Amino acid sequence: MPLEHSRNIAATAATSPGHILAVLRAEGPMTRQELQDRVGLSRVTMVERLDLLQRLDLLRPSGHRASSGGRPAEVLAANDLGRTALVADIGQTHATLAVVDLRGTILGQAEQPLPARHHPAETLPPLLELGRRLLAESGRADSLCAVGLSIPGQLDHERGTTIAPPTMPGWTGVPLREPFGDALNVPVVLENDANALAFGSYCAMGRPAAALVGVKVGTGIGAGVVISGRTHRGETGCAGEIGHIRIEGNEERCDCGRRGCVSALASGRAVIRRLRSSGVRSAADVLRRVRDGDAEAVATTADAGRLVGTVLATVVTIVNPRYVRVGGAIGVLPPFLEGLAEVVRAHAHTSALDGLSIEACALGENTTLAGLAGLVADEMLSPATVDAQARALAT
Ligand SMILES: [Zn+2]
Repeated sequence: MPLEHSRNIAATAATSPGHILAVLRAEGPMTRQELQDRVGLSRVTMVERLDLLQRLDLLRPSGHRASSGGRPAEVLAANDLGRTALVADIGQTHATLAVVDLRGTILGQAEQPLPARHHPAETLPPLLELGRRLLAESGRADSLCAVGLSIPGQLDHERGTTIAPPTMPGWTGVPLREPFGDALNVPVVLENDANALAFGSYCAMGRPAAALVGVKVGTGIGAGVVISGRTHRGETGCAGEIGHIRIEGNEERCDCGRRGCVSALASGRAVIRRLRSSGVRSAADVLRRVRDGDAEAVATTADAGRLVGTVLATVVTIVNPRYVRVGGAIGVLPPFLEGLAEVVRAHAHTSALDGLSIEACALGENTTLAGLAGLVADEMLSPATVDAQARALAT
């Protein structure tokens, strides 16, 4: 149970429908009586509140529990299955789209390869069309409540625009909410892809209270931090952008234009480049060779893992998380993960290593999409959103 979350709810002592739903989401299913005792409301008011939540299709029955009165009492749960989101993880080489419920169950999914140095004007319209097609095929278009989008770069969350993704040059200052939000007439939730990956790992683990660092190593490299159930974006939205930290003594040119970035040696793009003379042309080639035990591919991938580990050791010492979860096409490869873990364990503060778990993301390639689904759920099932809908219903 996310302890920080429930403590915050208790501290506000709020009793609105939205807060009742938040209690059910944070603390699990309850009977009406348990909920009444927990929130501190009269029976009549609780009945009114629950009626509003039922009419919004935000409650679902979750079995019965024996009660002292004799008749078994119905147990109620927050309904995160009835509403639908379209989520899209837009990367440098491909985009993955999925139709999900607010628990993150994937109801339809598609991948779209993207040309090198693609531009939003050419990329976004076909992705929107693909999203519409997935929604229609899933039969869930009517319950669409939001879109979630991620890109590998910083975002201006106030304006809803990209800032300047170092490896996606055509994507500077691009409004991301309008293309999908206006066309589908729903709110759009934006997140950096590594933050979404970290949040997806956090959701897949049942939303633990302890801090989690997620690392995404696909074409590029990024990291995200989840503390107390929230992605930590930092003051300018660049928290976790570890890919372009300079490694002393490295003069390799990076896609961002500078020299010596960790990405220049350890990203998927760099690993492909380092294996090019052996005929490797894509991430799929790297995966295949590592799986086949090709010595050069294994060594290069482990090397990349160790290099990311040197940066991550500092992150681990500063954040002191309980969990490090590694994802992305290259990040989940065993030699990469082993190299990374080896260096983190050798370089981070001893105390920060106490109880630290370093593993691959359990959901693999779908972790970022799960994170977007979780972020949409937190936004669309938040007390403020639910209370606004309940007020609209009551008037
Ligand atoms: Zn760079």
